[in-house]
Amino acid sequence: MTGSVTTTSTITCPRCGGCSTETMPTDACVFFYQCPHCQAMLQPRPGDCCVFCSYGDVRCPPKQTGDGAGCCEVPGHE
Ligand SMILES: [Zn+2]
Repeated sequence: MTGSVTTTSTITCPRCGGCSTETMPTDACVFFYQCPHCQAMLQPRPGDCCVFCSYGDVRCPPKQTGDGAGCCEVPGHE
């Protein structure tokens, strides 16, 4: 299962419902994302590491590569 990481995700804005497909960085988290439709500044929901995990249809690359740990999750921290 190599090379199966999806690097694009369609974010659905929780405020206006607008969708936009964005490219995800494979080595970083995206904490802030501005909706191009309503200019709302989106932030990850509690427990999610990035806006793609919260609002996208594809989880971020670090989660997809799946060693269980998120790119910026603190192990053992609830
Ligand atoms: Zn919006």
